[in-house]
Amino acid sequence: MKLIDGKKISEQLLDEIKSSVQNRIKINLKVPHLAAILVGEDGASKTYVNSKIKACEKVGFKSSLFKYDDSISEIGLISQIKKVNEDKDIDGFIVQLPLPRHIDQDKILYEVNPCKDVDGFHPYNYGKMTLGVDTFLPATPAGIIELIERTEIQTEGKKCLVIGRSQIVGRPISILLSQNKTFGNSTVTLAHSRSVDLKKLCLESDIIISAIGIPEFIKGDMIKEGSSIIDVGITRVKDLSSSKGYKIVGDVDLKSVSSKVGFITPVPGGVGPMTIACLLKNTISCFKRSLQ
Ligand code: NAD
Repeated sequence: MKLIDGKKISEQLLDEIKSSVQNRIKINLKVPHLAAILVGEDGASKTYVNSKIKACEKVGFKSSLFKYDDSISEIGLISQIKKVNEDKDIDGFIVQLPLPRHIDQDKILYEVNPCKDVDGFHPYNYGKMTLGVDTFLPATPAGIIELIERTEIQTEGKKCLVIGRSQIVGRPISILLSQNKTFGNSTVTLAHSRSVDLKKLCLESDIIISAIGIPEFIKGDMIKEGSSIIDVGITRVKDLSSSKGYKIVGDVDLKSVSSKVGFITPVPGGVGPMTIACLLKNTISCFKRSLQ
């Protein structure tokens, strides 16, 4: 078993971003400015946003956080998004998901200026990604590709199983891995909750990307000898031995797969830190992008 150190790789990426910011400062160019819109009091969302702000500080970005009460109306939120769209100092921004139920998420994402859409969720950018045209890639799939690339896991011609079909992870990574790109060219199967005989699909796969959110779902008897696994799942499970009262667990039972697996990402410390680093990488690329 070879653990893929996502924390270390994300730090390398953050160092690269930091030196790119320093180079910009040297030639009197603007410091990148990332903003986040947070609605409500969801604990996990607050933690994610805080980690993003901390990462901005680390690389020398300017950051802004716009917080709204979860009673904000859809129209109210759209008008705040319009203000951020028009703010010339802000280069990129994210709307932290999930949003409260009374707000139509798709409608909100549509309002984000595609030039500032560093999450890559606007249909314009999502469409470009699907077509294989250079654009913002959603941060988690982009982080997975970075991990694969920097660990030199060969994808060409390999059987790759993506488990989970969410719009933010499973679907986009299945598209990216099947494209005719250096770290693509895989034969991809996209499995989901209605898939039949998942164990058979897993056993046939050279690479498994799991994004389902069921703790320790994938066991040793489900995988092929030497296969690589990217574990995207993050679930909090009760742990009375921890001061927080919980621990973070992935989709893979690490102990059970350890004698058979090749490369694997741990949870925590695998895909999670890469997601934030790739969001910042997208913000840097705002300067290079234009819709014209
Ligand atoms: P989701 O929670 O929206 O949906 C889960 C997906 O899993 C669905 O497509 C469903 O069809 C599939 N699924 C559920 N049970 C299944 C089963 N028994 N067999 C096969 N497929 C099954 O998906 P999401 O938003 O991509 O989140 C998935 C996990 O990834 C969660 O634990 C989430 O916290 C985590 N996540 C991590 C990061 C990161 O940065 N590491 C980013 C996003 C999401």
